[in-house]
Amino acid sequence: MKEPMLVSDDEKWKAVISNDQAYDGLFFYAVKTTGVFCRPSCKAKRPARENVVFFTTANSAANSGFRPCKLCRPDMVSYAPNAQLVEKAKEMLQQVYNKPFDFSAMACQMGVSSSHLSRLFKQHTGVTPRQYILRIRIDKACALLRQTNAGILEIAYHTGFQSLSNFHRYFKEQTGISPKKYRKLGEDES
Ligand SMILES: [Zn+2]
Repeated sequence: MKEPMLVSDDEKWKAVISNDQAYDGLFFYAVKTTGVFCRPSCKAKRPARENVVFFTTANSAANSGFRPCKLCRPDMVSYAPNAQLVEKAKEMLQQVYNKPFDFSAMACQMGVSSSHLSRLFKQHTGVTPRQYILRIRIDKACALLRQTNAGILEIAYHTGFQSLSNFHRYFKEQTGISPKKYRKLGEDES
């Protein structure tokens, strides 16, 4: 699953002027007049908007001829605590996708507040943790519908849905059709 980058330039600029640490690792900004690039949280003097260019990675900024800022060291790419936190959360969600969803417990286990983690997660992946886990569940359900003869109720429970009606609702929401129809389409194709 490739996650979308849904941070607009406006949102990036807001992060820059508020030195928002939550965006560190998510993008970098370079200043044309100084030739230097920074992390969003850098405390250096605020540049004029028209001189700012955004980059997704430190490498792409360096390749465009910008020097890493001495203050915030955007070239030390391994230092991206927020991005790492989100990656870790994604891994954990993938492991527990069919268990009851308890995001607060997960955040607690990672040593951060659930509201902070939830916000970071949305910023980095474009979806909320709940939407993310639902996507995994539906993906698995699709695979089971096509590749096995398991009953719909069995598949619903197996993929973490607590009730058949929830399963139907979310399945339809994500795929546009019912589980039964989805399975039938697979049969017609083969
Ligand atoms: Zn800087």
